[in-house]
Amino acid sequence: MSELHKNYIGGEWVGGDARPNINPSNTNEVIGEYAQGTAADAKAAIDAAADAFKTWSLSGIQQRHDILKATGDEILARKEEIGRLLSREEGKTLPEGIGETMRAAQIFHFFAGETLRLAGEILPSVRPGIDVTITREPVGVVGLITPWNFPIAIPAWKLAPAIAYGNTVVMKPADLVPGCAWTIVDILVRNGLPKGVVNLVMGRGSVVGQAILESKKVNALSFTGSVGTGKKVAEASIAVMRKFQLEMGGKNPTIVLDDADLKVAVETTANSAFFSTGQRCTASSRLIVTEKIHDQYVEALSARIKDLVVDDAIKQGTHIGPVVDQSQLDQDQNYIQIAKDEGGTLVVGGERIERENPGFFLQPALFTGTTPDMRINKEEVFGPVASVIKVKDYEEALAVANDTPFGLAAGIVTTSLKHATHFKRNAEAGMVMVNLPTAGVDYHVPFGGRKGSSYGPREQGKYAAEFFTTVKTSYTQP
Ligand code: NAD
Repeated sequence: MSELHKNYIGGEWVGGDARPNINPSNTNEVIGEYAQGTAADAKAAIDAAADAFKTWSLSGIQQRHDILKATGDEILARKEEIGRLLSREEGKTLPEGIGETMRAAQIFHFFAGETLRLAGEILPSVRPGIDVTITREPVGVVGLITPWNFPIAIPAWKLAPAIAYGNTVVMKPADLVPGCAWTIVDILVRNGLPKGVVNLVMGRGSVVGQAILESKKVNALSFTGSVGTGKKVAEASIAVMRKFQLEMGGKNPTIVLDDADLKVAVETTANSAFFSTGQRCTASSRLIVTEKIHDQYVEALSARIKDLVVDDAIKQGTHIGPVVDQSQLDQDQNYIQIAKDEGGTLVVGGERIERENPGFFLQPALFTGTTPDMRINKEEVFGPVASVIKVKDYEEALAVANDTPFGLAAGIVTTSLKHATHFKRNAEAGMVMVNLPTAGVDYHVPFGGRKGSSYGPREQGKYAAEFFTTVKTSYTQP
């Protein structure tokens, strides 16, 4: 058995029951053994974070900058190796794995800079002779709970601002992908992060996650994952009156209008719907297409899908890696059956496929003839499955696009400035893309959604300060 990757609590690597990290491209391959934390581990981690907060909250900005900068540097220097680990544990292709790793490094660099830019305000009071100052302070002990589909970017975009603004952390990564989160913590520790500032407790959501939710000592909780778990985070957080932030699911639309450049429409939606195996919260699964371009678009997209190579994530030439695990594969296949039963036409893909090694490979699936009321157009599948909804014109397309309880990302492919402008203003989503895939965002600008997709302040960019700091207004009579 390989060496156990331990939890990191109060500055010590702490063992526990071992859980194998399995490669979804080859289920015979164990990537490594990772400790399964307990509720007691979570409690010890929270206590350590609370203790460390007393000094870390007063630490100098140069120290915080240097640790974040060095962490970003090391991640960047090791991007091939970490990207490979990511692709092996999650199943996205190697270029996608390396790209996500580079993004994590850039996030650490961005927040290294932000430590030096944290500013307040001084205003005159309405009462003459009094000064009013507005300052930002760290929130305290922050719980970070992350999903499996971005194993390094999401831990990075929560950890880096938490540290930058002087908080201490208890992080629980998704059970399926502990490797990347463990690697970041190892890098932070070796680059000088004082003990207790970040604590890593890997393990089950219902055990470790639940213990974090229930703790009164966790002052703020940042969660990314499914709507069901997000609701539990919200209820538990309100019960102890803590600040919380939720990033959850999506059912993101992309509209293709008659005046679209067909090539742009096909590339944009093939990427949005199927790359990273469709396992992105920003993936487009509803393709809303006006009637004149509909047939040629479906034909061209189907041809493009047939060209996509589905294979081992780290094999050169693979476009689409495996689904992350058996239960997600079951869910994808279940929705393919539901769409068929509801009367959708499966024009391409949808079959389970075998490759050299045993893995969870699924041919990307495209449905046509679907209507907005079908379950395939209402519920998040979270796999390489997309459906086309034919509409008359832009007005109908917009109404269908907005007819969802979610509101993360929305896209439009058009050459009409008028429609693009109207859509940017009227799409009920946190992020809008014109002639670009809905998935694929920058790291220095806010990320997040509306309606049932998100709750609380935005993540990333300077907007991250809204969640990871608390504002104090002070009045002074000199
Ligand atoms: P999930 O909700 O099953 O798990 C997310 C995390 O919560 C994991 O670490 C899990 O162990 C933990 N958890 C589970 N039960 C818990 C409990 N009772 N208490 C505390 N923690 C618990 O989600 P997932 O399957 O890992 O991720 C897929 C989902 O994440 C999709 O819905 C996707 O859309 C969403 N997602 C959203 C964004 C976004 O930014 N909006 C980004 C990525 C993924």
